[in-house]
Parts: sequence; structure tokens; C-alpha cells
Amino acid sequence: NKKVVLRHYVSGFPKESDFEVVTTETVRLMVPEGSGAVLVKSLYLSCDPFMRSRMSRREDLNFYPEFTPGSVISGIGVARVVDPGNSDFSRGELVWGAIGWEEYSLIENPESLVKIRHEDLPLSYYAGLIAFCFITGMTGFSASVGFYDICSPKKEQYVFVSAASGAVGQLVGQFAKLTGCYVVGSAGSDEKVGLLKGKLGFDDAFNYKKESDLNATLKRYFPEGIDIYFDNVGGRTLEAVLPNMRTSGRISACGMISQYNLQEPECIHNLFHLITKCVRIEGFMAHRHLQKYPEFEDKMAGLIKEGKIVYMEDVAEGIDSAPAAFVNLFTGRNLGKQLVLVARD
Ligand code: NDP
Repeated sequence: NKKVVLRHYVSGFPKESDFEVVTTETVRLMVPEGSGAVLVKSLYLSCDPFMRSRMSRREDLNFYPEFTPGSVISGIGVARVVDPGNSDFSRGELVWGAIGWEEYSLIENPESLVKIRHEDLPLSYYAGLIAFCFITGMTGFSASVGFYDICSPKKEQYVFVSAASGAVGQLVGQFAKLTGCYVVGSAGSDEKVGLLKGKLGFDDAFNYKKESDLNATLKRYFPEGIDIYFDNVGGRTLEAVLPNMRTSGRISACGMISQYNLQEPECIHNLFHLITKCVRIEGFMAHRHLQKYPEFEDKMAGLIKEGKIVYMEDVAEGIDSAPAAFVNLFTGRNLGKQLVLVARD
């Protein structure tokens, strides 16, 4: 049974050498009697930026118990039940939920697993696009809560999305287009900018790494200002957005990936614009909106089946590739939702 363990606490940018893929004893494909556990075989693992905060001891960022050195990384994934124990699952059933980064996982808390309802969708979508988890709301659900519920978008409003080609950002842009908004995305490479304008239907996009004065860049793309900013990155992008917000604008604070690897978070200096422009900024944790998930799941499944949503995934093959896949999130090497395919069946 191969598993990915944290070698030591991560300092600064994560590196592949912060992890180790170890092979342990052959797994007994049976749940220990009376344990109440479920044994699953991992198929897809989801790589998520929030997992970085669990790899060090930063209390300001850590909202979920840390991984201690030597422990197996865990996150959201799709798996097949090998031994259901005494649970309601059946052998061979497909599930998603919180699983270990290992080929076989003994899940001691089967309530964290959910049966897959839309088996006609690609399985990987349950490791991101359509998943929900008690740790954090996942890709699609976060995009939905953060855009529709936090920002109350209206037709013809001006929307800006950062990390726009990523797992969450690509969906926010498409939701904005479905609402009839004008949407511009920023991303870290020309290839991503091309995908935003071509495949994902953004009205415009730019490579933020090529812009020395983001404030001026935003003025160019939004001469009339921004009604809605969906923030995935924080830091200097957020700072540049503030003077460009329109009166009564909304900022959805989804994530601040530019800050996750810094020893000290950066200061935002121009918050006064929130007052003068009467802008509302609101953070959210999608898993706190649990009651909205069933409606979201069906709505999202419908949009996908009708071909109204395009979803880009970046699938690394084999559990050995999991550390590199995770690191991709912070170098920007991922094109869309970063996943690891552990086994096809
Ligand atoms: P992505 O698929 O967008 O991957 C991360 C991307 O972030 C990279 O591809 C890179 O793209 C960009 N990035 C990395 N470092 C920086 C940096 N220093 N400055 C600017 N951009 C950077 O990840 P997700 O879609 O899964 O997550 C996006 C954000 O949403 C994260 O901040 C995450 O923590 C947050 N999140 C919040 C949730 C919630 O419930 N509030 C739930 C899920 C995610 P590029 O090449 O464009 O730089």
C-alpha cells in the first residue's frame, strides 16, 4: 500500500521533497471486526490550496488540524468500497469524501463518505467540481456560494476574477457569463489567458505576471470600474482592485493563495476605499452553506449535461506524482482543477 506522508513541516513554498511516498506492508483487504470502519480503494485525489495551511504551524491560516510530520496526507477523493464493514455501503460501490493519500484507506468515520449520485458524470468531478466536504466546500460549490450568494450578481455588471483559469476561477467566470455579466480574468501565463478567452468564454483576460502596475491594468480593462471582484489570491491584486471598485460593489473573499507561503501576511494599505465606495467585502467557507448543497449538486449536474459548463482538469497519473501535483498549485503549473489519478477501477 503506497501512501504520501509529510516528511516535515513545510516552510515557505512547498517542494516535492517535503513529502515522501512510502510503501507499507501489503494491506489486509478487510475491515478489522467491530471497528465500524470502511475500507476503500482510492481512485482520484483532489489537490487543494487549503491543504498547505495544514502543513505548517501557522495559527493565522490553519482552520483545520495540521498534518504532523510522518502522518499521511488526507483530503477529498473518489474511491471504491472494498470492504463496507457494518456500514450502509456495499462492496464495489463508488463514494467520495475525505480519504487518505494512499492506495487503500481505512476510513474510521464512514459518515465522511458519500455515495455518488450522478454516475453518468465523469467520476473525477466528484473530487472537485461537484464535491462538498466538511473540511471545506470544494471547487464548484465554492464558486457557486462565493459568486451567487456573496455577490448577488446582476446582468451587465462588471466582474473581475483572479486565478481565473484555476479550479474555482474558471467556474466563477462561466457563472458570470451565464448571468449576463462582463467578465475579465487574470492568470499567470499566456497559455492560461488564451484558454480564458477561448475555451472558457471570458470577455477578456490578462497575464498578471506581465503587468508591473496592476492598478493601471485594471483601469484599462475596467474603465467604468468593477462591480464584483471574486478574490482567489489576496495580496497585491486585492490592493489594486480596491481603488477600481464601483460604488456599492461586492468582493467575495474566497482565498488568498498569494499569502499561504509567506512567513508574514502582507498588509493591505488602501482599505479606506471600502468606506468611500460603500463596498462590501465578505469572506466565506463554503462548507458552512451545507443546506444549499443538494440543490447545487443537481443544478451543476444539469448544467454539465446540457453542455453549458466547460470544466478543465489537470490529471497527474499515479500516486507517486501526488507531491508534484500539489506543488503545481503554487507554481501555477496546473491548468484547471489539479487531480491525481491513483487507479482507474
Ligand atoms: P487553483 O486551481 O486556482 O490553483 C491555484 C492557482 O493559484 C495556481 O494555478 C496559480 O495560477 C494561482 N497562484 C498561485 N500562487 C499565486 C500567487 N502568489 N499569486 C497569484 N496567483 C497565484 O486553486 P483552487 O481553485 O482550488 O483555489 C483557488 C482559491 O480558492 C485558493 O485561494 C483557495 O484557497 C480558495 N478556496 C476557497 C474555498 C472556500 O470555501 N472559501 C474553497 C476552495 C478553494 P496562476 O498561474 O494564474 O498564477
